[in-house]
Amino acid sequence: MRWSQMHIPTLREDPADADAPSHRLLLRAGYIRQLMAGHYSLLPIAVLVRSRVVAIIREEMARIGSQEFILPAMHPAEIWQRTGRWEGMGQEMFRLRDRKGADIALGMTHEEIFTTLALELSSYKQLPQMWYQFQTKFRDEPRPKAGLMRTREFTMKDSYSFDLDASGLDTSFDKHHDAYVRIFQRLGIPAIPVEASSGSMGGSASTEFMCPSEAGEDFVVHCTSCGYAANVEKATSRLPVVTDAPGLQAPERFDTPGARTIADLAERYDAPGERQVKTLVYVVDGKLTLVLLRGDHALMEQKLNDALAARELRPAHPEEIREALGASPGSLGGVGVTDLPIIADEALRGRTDMFTGANTDDVHLRGVSVERDITVGRWADLREVAAGEECPTCAEPLQVQRAIEVGHIFKLGYKYAEALGANVLGPDGNRIPVIMGSYGIGVERAMAAIVEGHHDDKGIVWPLSVAPFAVAVVIAQPKDEQTVALGEQVYEQLRAAGVDVIVDDRNERPGVKFRDVELVGIPFRITVGKKALSEGAVEFTERATGETRAVACADLVEEVR
Ligand code: ATP
Ligand code: MG
Ligand code: MG
Ligand code: MG
Repeated sequence: MRWSQMHIPTLREDPADADAPSHRLLLRAGYIRQLMAGHYSLLPIAVLVRSRVVAIIREEMARIGSQEFILPAMHPAEIWQRTGRWEGMGQEMFRLRDRKGADIALGMTHEEIFTTLALELSSYKQLPQMWYQFQTKFRDEPRPKAGLMRTREFTMKDSYSFDLDASGLDTSFDKHHDAYVRIFQRLGIPAIPVEASSGSMGGSASTEFMCPSEAGEDFVVHCTSCGYAANVEKATSRLPVVTDAPGLQAPERFDTPGARTIADLAERYDAPGERQVKTLVYVVDGKLTLVLLRGDHALMEQKLNDALAARELRPAHPEEIREALGASPGSLGGVGVTDLPIIADEALRGRTDMFTGANTDDVHLRGVSVERDITVGRWADLREVAAGEECPTCAEPLQVQRAIEVGHIFKLGYKYAEALGANVLGPDGNRIPVIMGSYGIGVERAMAAIVEGHHDDKGIVWPLSVAPFAVAVVIAQPKDEQTVALGEQVYEQLRAAGVDVIVDDRNERPGVKFRDVELVGIPFRITVGKKALSEGAVEFTERATGETRAVACADLVEEVR
C-alpha cells in the first residue's frame, strides 16, 4: 500500500470530548469517525486491524473444532417471544415493523436463532456441536461510551455449544475458556478470567474476561498474590441475602424457591441480556425492603416507576436506611446487610441514583461482613472497603481495579432448548433436550482494549499480531530520484516476501511522516534517506522502544519476522 493513496486522516490536535486514550487515539490516528453517538465508521486502517483480530479469533475457534456460520441480523419477534426475551430485553432491544406490520428485532445476541438451527440435530451421536459467527449486534445502550468501547452497533464473535449432558457442557465450556485465554494473549490483552457468578453446585456458571484498565466500566476484585479474581458483584454476593418485596406482583415479584443467596439467583438468571440481580432499597407497606431485580433493569425500573406513580412503594430515604440499621444492626427488612455493597456498587455506577436518592454521599451503612462503617456514594470508598477484605483463597489483602469486559462465557443450561424444543434421541431411545453454552467476544471493544494497553504519548503502539502494517518504509527525500528508487526497491522486496508493508511516498517533510507512523502505531519503521544510499544500509526503528539501528538492505526481511 502507498500512504499517498490511502485515506488516513490523522489529526494534529487531540479531539475534544474524547477522554479514554483509545477513543482519542483511534480518532486522531485516522481509524474511526463517529456518525452519531454509539455508531462509528471504521476507516481503512481500522478495517485492517479488525481483520487481524478476526483472523486470530477464527484460528482459535477452528483449533477447538467450532464451525463458522452467518445468521441474519434481523429476527422475527415470534422466536424471541417464545423464550420470554421479547419482553425481557426491554429497551436495550431495537425493534422495527415491516410493511406488513410484522414485529422484527435487530439481533442483540443469537441464542434463540442458533437454537432454531439446532432443532435439526436429531441424535446424541451428532453431539457435541460448537457453532459460531461474526455478526453485527445492535443494542440500544443507555450510555454509549469511549469510542469503540461501548457502541450501539458492534461485531461480536458469538459461539454456542450443544451437548448431551452437563459434563459435555463442562468440556465445551473449558475449551472456550482455553481458546479465550489464547485469543487474548495473542491480541496483547492481559485479560483476567473472573467468576461472574458462582454455582451452588460448585464450579463456575459464567466467566468474564476482564482487562484491567482505568477506562473500564466494570470492577474486579483481584488477589495479586494467588490470582483469585471475582467481579465486585460476585465478591459481595456470597452471603445469604434474599427476599422478595411484599406488595409487588409477579412478574416484578421474585419467586425463586430454593434460592438462598444472591449468587443462587444470579446463577438462575444470569444469561446474556439478563444481567445479574440488582438490588434496590424501597419502602413497601411502610417497611424497608430490598427489592431484587433480575433481567432487564430498564424494563423492571419502568414497572417500578409505574408502581411508584401509584404510590404503592417509594424509594427509601438514606435517613431511613440509617435508622433501620441503627435499630437492628445487621439486618434490614429481614435481609442481611452483607448485600449492601451491591447497592453501593450500583449507585456508584450511576444506575440507581433515582432510587437510592441523589444524596447518598454521607449515608453510613454498617455491614456484617464489612464490620465497619462504609460510606455509600463514592467509588473510592467501595474500593477501600473491598480492598480491606481478605482473599478467600490465601487471606492476602484484595485489590480492586477498574476493568473492561472483553469476553464473557456462559453455561446456559436447558433454558433455550426447552423453550424452543431442541431435543435429540438419547442413547436409551428417549428424547432429551440439549444442554447449551454461549460465548462472546466484542471485536471492536477488543481493539479499543488493545489500544488502552498499548500506547504512549506519541500514539498507538500496536502489537505486531494486529498492527495494520508491520512495516512503514519512509522515503525521507521524496524529491530525490535515487532515494525514491531505493525506497521503492525496499518496499517491493518486503512485499514480495509477504510482509504487510506501507510505503510513505508522500511529498512531506520526514518529521511529518515520522509523527504519523508513530501516531498510527506501525511496529517497524524503515527510513530510506541519503545516508542509506551511501552506506547500503537503512535506518530501522522499533516503535515500542524507539531504538534505531542500521540494517543492510539484504537483511530486512529477516529483521521484521
Ligand atoms: P457490558 O457489561 O459491557 O454491557 P455485556 O455483559 O452486556 O457487556 P455480553 O452480552 O456478555 O455483554 O456480550 C459479550 C461481549 O460483547 C462483551 O464481553 C463485550 O466484549 C461485547 N460487548 C457487549 N456490549 C458491547 C457494546 N455495547 N459495545 C461493544 N462491545 C460490546
Ligand atoms: Mg451490556
Ligand atoms: Mg457485562
Ligand atoms: Mg457480559
